[in-house]
Amino acid sequence: MTPVHHDAEGPRAPAGRDLLTELGVRRVVNAAGYYTYVGGAVMAPEVVDAWAQGAAAVVRVEELFDAVGRRIAALLGCEAALVTGSAAAALTVGTAACITGTDPDRILRIPDTTGMRNEVIVQRNHRFSYDHAVRACGIRLIEVDTAAELEAAVGDRTAMLLFLNLAEARGRIGSAEFTALGRKHGIPTLIDCAADVPPLKTLTDALAVGFDLVAVSGGKAIGGPQNVGLLLGRPDLVAAARLNAAPNSDVIGRAMKGSKENALAMLVALERYLARDHEADWREWEGRVDVIVAAVNAIPGVTAEPFVPAINSHGPHVCIRWDEQRIKLTLAEAAALLREGEPSIETFPVDIPPESRWAAIGWRDGLNLGVWALQRGEAEIVAARLAEILAAAATR
Ligand SMILES: *Cc1c(COP(=O)(O)O)cnc(C)c1O
Repeated sequence: MTPVHHDAEGPRAPAGRDLLTELGVRRVVNAAGYYTYVGGAVMAPEVVDAWAQGAAAVVRVEELFDAVGRRIAALLGCEAALVTGSAAAALTVGTAACITGTDPDRILRIPDTTGMRNEVIVQRNHRFSYDHAVRACGIRLIEVDTAAELEAAVGDRTAMLLFLNLAEARGRIGSAEFTALGRKHGIPTLIDCAADVPPLKTLTDALAVGFDLVAVSGGKAIGGPQNVGLLLGRPDLVAAARLNAAPNSDVIGRAMKGSKENALAMLVALERYLARDHEADWREWEGRVDVIVAAVNAIPGVTAEPFVPAINSHGPHVCIRWDEQRIKLTLAEAAALLREGEPSIETFPVDIPPESRWAAIGWRDGLNLGVWALQRGEAEIVAARLAEILAAAATR
């Protein structure tokens, strides 16, 4: 009998089909940034190839995760690394590791944390819109403001201390003091650096300052698959996090499983990222900002200002504002016109209260554009369309 090989040559593009057109789903020019609502980064061809090799291969997943984790740890100069389903998943399995260790009974029982260490201490203004991923483990978040309050809150229920990198400047306890407090009390510390690459130094700094665990997104600026994150840090905790993740079945991390294809794609994305000329990238992004600024600043009543968020999306952006007496268009209307046009353009229109943490790192009210997720030639398209929309709304 002839053996049957399914897809023996690996996956192929569906010949002659344009799936998005078939489905009636519009392609988008991404002038927003590496956001999940626009699918994060576009994967480079080498990353897609790596993904395809993984998809076509049959392997022991644990063996592959060992090997990829070791390689990524070596590339980043850290002790251990785990590919997770997202940065949020890294927060979940990282927290789980701090609660359960390697105890199989505890791993089975969470999020029922009865009788376990089930409190996580966080600075009040480090609470953030992804801390659900930490709370999912069945912990209570204890909010503190000062180092003294933190020390008073530490006890035999404390599982972990949580830090949001982008909030460092707003918190009363800085990262060095925070990790020192963790060490003093023997409590592991976890930092969310999800969108804080570039620069890559963020990760090595977080490890150097003493965080036990570091969570980062794979599918933002690093250019990996959208549903990948990395958990870096202490080998015993990374090992415990793995026990709380797939391929194990009855664990909290099962629903956020990492896959062989994503692990290989992430490795290659990281290698590519490390090999890039980051200064040349920056100049390319600044060039795109210049194209947009030049096109819209020529319109009376419009101001386009370049800005660089100090952290979290640290790269060239542009904020466009206009005098609504002279340009009869609200922020939301402008964003909608860009979205509805051809091609469809996605931006990041935001009302940012001056006292918000976003204002503190450089964001302001206006039509905000991130240029790093644009493909070549698209800055010109965005500039022309913006100029067209704003000029058409100008009162004569
Ligand atoms: C994007 C982001 C996350 C979530 O990252 P995912 O990889 O999409 O899960 C978590 N925290 C912060 C601060 C982020 O910016």
